[in-house]
Amino acid sequence: MESLTPQQIRESFVNCSRADAEELPLPPGMHEVDWSRREYLGWRDPRLPQRGYVVVPTADGPVGIVLKASEASMRSHAPSMCGWCQDVHFTRDVYFWSARRAGQAGRNGDTVGTLVCGGFECSENVRRTPPPQYVGFDPDRVVEDRIAGLAERAGRFAATVVGARI
Ligand SMILES: [Zn+2]
Repeated sequence: MESLTPQQIRESFVNCSRADAEELPLPPGMHEVDWSRREYLGWRDPRLPQRGYVVVPTADGPVGIVLKASEASMRSHAPSMCGWCQDVHFTRDVYFWSARRAGQAGRNGDTVGTLVCGGFECSENVRRTPPPQYVGFDPDRVVEDRIAGLAERAGRFAATVVGARI
């Protein structure tokens, strides 16, 4: 994804108030982010364990989304598959996150949900060397396909959050 300034990140949020967007904690270690190896930016709120933030690039610019993890999914630690990176090789914590939709729909209480890695490690997951069952395939091609799939699924979620904006 293209690099973003702190101000661009704050301005990208679509499902919280302007004041909330100005207050939210920026991603830790932002100066170290390798943007070329990220399909989206995701981070947790250090003060609010259930709160997460993602910024997803779309054709209409970056879309920032405030997410809330369901307590049940945070407690269970059951192996589940992340809906974005579809990583199945490690049983990492995957949480069910919900997002208030943008605009009037969100103000009416409309939310959308998705299963995503609890630490938003999707971009690292898709770049791991493919496992042995991929022998015979071109590993670079496998990684490229996974990267494209991650970008598409994250983008689709962002579109769903924004789509209801009135
Ligand atoms: Zn993931």
